[in-house]
Amino acid sequence: MTLLLHPPPHLSPFPPRHSSFKPLASTQLTPKPPQSRPLSSDPIPKAIVIGAGLSGLAAATCLASSNTPFLLLESSDGVGGRVRTDTLDGFLLDRGFQIFITAYPEARYLLDYDSLDLRRFYSGARVYYDGAFHTVADPARHFLDSVLSLTNPIGTVLDKLLIGLTRIGVLSKTDGEILSAEEVRTVDLLRRIGFSSSMVDRFFRPFFGGIFFDRELETTSRLFDFVFKCLALGDNTLPAKGIGEIPKQLAAKLPQDSILLKTRVESVVPSDGESPVVVRLENGEILKSELGVILAVEQPELDKIMTRKTRDPKPSSQTKPARSTVCLYFSAENGDIPVSEPVLFLNGSGQGIVNNMFFATNVAPSYGAPGKALVSVSLIGLFEEVSDEELSARVIKELGEWFGQSVVNKWRHLRTYRIAFAQPNQSPPTDLRKDPRAGAGVYLCGDYLTSATFDGALVSGRLAAEALIEDRALLRRP
Ligand SMILES: Cc1cc2nc3c(=O)[nH]c(=O)nc-3n(C[C@H](O)[C@H](O)[C@H](O)COP(=O)(O)OP(=O)(O)OC[C@H]3O[C@@H](n4cnc5c(N)ncnc54)[C@H](O)[C@@H]3O)c2cc1C
Repeated sequence: MTLLLHPPPHLSPFPPRHSSFKPLASTQLTPKPPQSRPLSSDPIPKAIVIGAGLSGLAAATCLASSNTPFLLLESSDGVGGRVRTDTLDGFLLDRGFQIFITAYPEARYLLDYDSLDLRRFYSGARVYYDGAFHTVADPARHFLDSVLSLTNPIGTVLDKLLIGLTRIGVLSKTDGEILSAEEVRTVDLLRRIGFSSSMVDRFFRPFFGGIFFDRELETTSRLFDFVFKCLALGDNTLPAKGIGEIPKQLAAKLPQDSILLKTRVESVVPSDGESPVVVRLENGEILKSELGVILAVEQPELDKIMTRKTRDPKPSSQTKPARSTVCLYFSAENGDIPVSEPVLFLNGSGQGIVNNMFFATNVAPSYGAPGKALVSVSLIGLFEEVSDEELSARVIKELGEWFGQSVVNKWRHLRTYRIAFAQPNQSPPTDLRKDPRAGAGVYLCGDYLTSATFDGALVSGRLAAEALIEDRALLRRP
C-alpha cells in the first residue's frame, strides 16, 4: 500500500486537485507557548514544519489532510509570517501594503472566501501625473471609465489596446506554461509587446513596481504574466478584518496543539542515512524526526539554520538583493480625505518617494477606528538613512502636492513599517518550480522556490509536504 496522494510534484507545478486532499474541519486554534514538557519526550513520531508563514501553514494543511502527524514550530508570537495585521488605537494595520487577488488558484482551493469577508478595490488605478489624477480602468469591469480614459496622458490609445491583447495572451496559457516560459525582465517584455515609454513609466512602473517592490521592473516576465493573469481573472481585495485573517484561517483548521509559537529553531542537521533529522531549538532542546523536516522559513533565514550542506540548498536568486519596502500609516478624520472610492493611487510623475497609496477605510471601513479614516502609503526600498520622522514629513509634503497641503497636514502619523525582506529578488534567471527535496529528510518551501506571491508560498508548502509524504511512503514499501 502506498500513501502517495498526488503525482510527484516535479511533473506539474500545479498538480490536479484530489478529493482526498481537503483541509480538515475547523478546530479552535490554541497556539501554545513553549511547553514545559520537553518536546523530545513526545511518543508519536512526527514530521516537523519550521515556520508558520503561508508556506508552512500550507505544508501543515497537506500533512494534516493525509493524517501525517506533525509539529509546526514558529519563532514569532503569531502565525502568518510576512502576512500579519496589527491593531493600534482601533485601526487595523497590515504589516506592509498587501492585496489579496481572488483568482490565485491555490488560494481558491484552500481558503474559505466567504468567511474572509473580502472587500474589493476598484479594478484599475488613479495615476498622479503632471499635477493631476488620471484613471486607468479595467475595460472588462469599468467599460465606461476605460473608454473615457482612452486619450488621457497615461499611455497612448494603442497602449490601451495592447493591454487587452496582453490579457488575451496570458489567459490562453496555463499557469504551468507561464511559470516555465522563456523569460526576460518585465521591462523588456513590455517593450517587446510594444508599450510606449509613457505607459511603462507612468503606469507599469508604479503598479507592477509596487507589486514586485521593483520600480526598475527587472522581475521575471514569468511573474508578470502570472500576476497579470490573476488580475484579469479575479478581484483585488482585502479581508475585512485585515490581511492576517488569511493565515489565521489556515491555522484554525489544523489539529489542536500542532502549532508551537515562540519556538525558534537554531539549527537543522540532515539525516546521515542512519539517524533521523535533528532539530535544535534555541532553548537547547533537541528534536528528532524520522518522518522528515520541512523548512518553511524566509530565504535569508535558511543559511543560518542549515548546518550541513544539502543538495542545492541555495536558490539561484539568493545572491541578488532582496526586495524591500516601507509602509507608513496615517489617521485622518473621515471628512479629511479627498475621495471615498476604494481606489489605488499610483505615482506616475517620476518624482518623489511615494510609489502608491490608498485610503484603506474606503476599501474596508473596519480598518479604521470609529469616525476615522486610515491612510496607507508605500515606498519602494528601505530608506535606511532617513529617520521615521523625516520620512513621514517628506511623505506628508509630497501628498500635499497631490491632495492639497491643508488636507494632508491634518493627518496624524500612526506607524511606519520597514520591511527589509519583503520578497526574494526574482529577476532572471529564475526557476519557479524548484524541487522541494533538499536531501536527507529535509524539504524546503517558501515563496523563493516558486512565485513570490501568497499563491506561490501556498503551492510550495503543499509541494514540500507531498514530497515528504511520497518519500515516507516509498520507504515503507516492502
Ligand atoms: C509588505 C509585503 C507586501 C506583499 N504584498 C503581496 C501581495 O499583495 N500579494 C502577494 O501575493 N504577495 C505579497 N507579498 C508576498 C507574500 O507575503 C509572501 O510571498 C509570502 O507571504 C511568503 O510566505 P512564506 O511562508 O514563504 O514566508 P514567510 O511569510 O516569511 O514565513 C516564514 C516564517 O518562518 C518563521 N521563521 C523564520 N525563522 C525561523 C526559525 N529559526 N524558527 C522558527 N520559525 C522561523 C518566520 O517567523 C515566519 O513566520 C507581500 C510581502 C510583503 C512583505
